[in-house]
Amino acid sequence: MTGPHHPGLDFLAGRSMELLRRLGLSALIRQHGVSPDHPTGLEWSQGLDDPPILISPGESTGTAFDGGSLPVESHQRVSGAELAKQLRAAVRRHPLIDLREGWTFTSLRIEPDCAMAELVEAGTGDRHFVEARHVAGCDGAHSTVRRCIEVPMEQLAAPARHCSVYFRSEDLTRRFTRRGLSTVIVGGVALVARGDHDTWVGHLGLVPDEPITTDPVAMLRAMLGIRLDSTEVLGVTQWDDSLAVASTYQRGPAYLAGEAAHRFHPVTDSADISIGDAVDLGWKLAAVINGWGGPGLLASYELERRPRALIDREMLARALETRRRFSRLAKAGATRELLAEVLRQEPHLLGTTGFQLGDRLASSVIWSDDRPQWPSPDEMPPTISPGVRAPSVRLADGSRFLDKLGVELTLVDLTDDDTGAPLVAAAQKRGIPMAHLVTADPAVRAAWDHPLVLVRPDQHVAWRAGTAPNDWDTVLDLVTGRKTT
Ligand SMILES: Cc1cc2nc3c(=O)[nH]c(=O)nc-3n(C[C@H](O)[C@H](O)[C@H](O)COP(=O)(O)OP(=O)(O)OC[C@H]3O[C@@H](n4cnc5c(N)ncnc54)[C@H](O)[C@@H]3O)c2cc1C
Repeated sequence: MTGPHHPGLDFLAGRSMELLRRLGLSALIRQHGVSPDHPTGLEWSQGLDDPPILISPGESTGTAFDGGSLPVESHQRVSGAELAKQLRAAVRRHPLIDLREGWTFTSLRIEPDCAMAELVEAGTGDRHFVEARHVAGCDGAHSTVRRCIEVPMEQLAAPARHCSVYFRSEDLTRRFTRRGLSTVIVGGVALVARGDHDTWVGHLGLVPDEPITTDPVAMLRAMLGIRLDSTEVLGVTQWDDSLAVASTYQRGPAYLAGEAAHRFHPVTDSADISIGDAVDLGWKLAAVINGWGGPGLLASYELERRPRALIDREMLARALETRRRFSRLAKAGATRELLAEVLRQEPHLLGTTGFQLGDRLASSVIWSDDRPQWPSPDEMPPTISPGVRAPSVRLADGSRFLDKLGVELTLVDLTDDDTGAPLVAAAQKRGIPMAHLVTADPAVRAAWDHPLVLVRPDQHVAWRAGTAPNDWDTVLDLVTGRKTT
């Protein structure tokens, strides 16, 4: 493992911050992130000196529909390099993790009951063989794990080449951040203000088969059609986009997560789905290793996460086409009014808050229930249907209800007669760790429309009921993956 030399990621959605909060890391990430006052707006322009065609407001952190549907944490702009540094430090401090920095994983052989991994030690070059019950391949876009288990990536379209230039320019900061913007789309270039020390990243689409110039500033100037005075280049990366999803997320004891499992452009919320994968796979592996999760639990990882990647891919393909159409129309001579109208008709940003929290899981370990009518993502009301992320409401003392959940399963009990107590006792007797969270808080009662709700470690609802069920053992077997329907 090595750290990145380019800032890469820029933005984490509220849902990711909420998941990091559960690990006790959100405050630390914020401390090292961009100030929340820094804008996240997006401007569409034909030229840097032209007035904008359209300005889209940034992600909202307001409380307009905070009845439990908003994330507990708001989004955070943070450099990928800083995020990796902080997460790596947290991993080093964790008593259960043995982190071998600089070691390289080189091959994997799947055996009937385990996987045999080969690693090369940093410094000495010594080879080590490790027998593992489970392997999580979180090794990025060029995953060696994926190659070893021979999982192909399914592409939506042929990959195109891109180049990202990380640079410092007071000139650009002066021109744009005053207008409350973080991103400017102009021609084929997306310019992202990093929000610290006048640094910017320019994402440039490259023409196929054309050699890449050795002077990135010249390339930026040519594509933007402006002078960029006193520009200091801090880093350059090239990559191929592909809108690709792995054909499967599991082969025997090996799993794929993050960019090893999906590779997207634009990268808008790539890290958010990657964090979602890691959380989903992480708690299921822990449950199986600790003996309370059955085989169906790990099998549900792909059922819950791969559809999310396939849906995201379609959304991103639409967003990408909007950018391309914008450039093509501008080149063809479309008027400013027409360009603005086209942009208004083609939502070009994912409404990440509603989309991610409204993400309803359906799998073999979620108790099936009648599906509610699907509301508009912007007006996602809190609901406790099985599969959804449980609503979080602010309690009278100012704390957040989701923070009260236990580490593993939690039975939220809103009954007046402690109905959940024998259910929790029955689960514990079967070796299933379950916290019993009893509350009469009026805000929770208003948002949680069922009195008994079983919540998973990833804050998704596994089961709900109005009264104690006759078939509690069946519920427990299903949600822990011991038996699947
Ligand atoms: C320029 C750029 C801008 C981006 N901006 C955003 C953004 O604004 N928002 C967003 O959501 N996403 C963004 N992304 C995407 C985001 O960075 C990725 O989605 C995210 O980093 C994926 O995380 P990952 O852990 O799956 O992979 P990675 O971050 O690639 O991590 C993989 C790790 O595995 C290690 N590794 C790989 N192979 C081996 C091996 N054989 N042995 C040992 N270790 C190995 C690597 O060293 C690395 O530490 C951006 C990406 C780029 C390139």
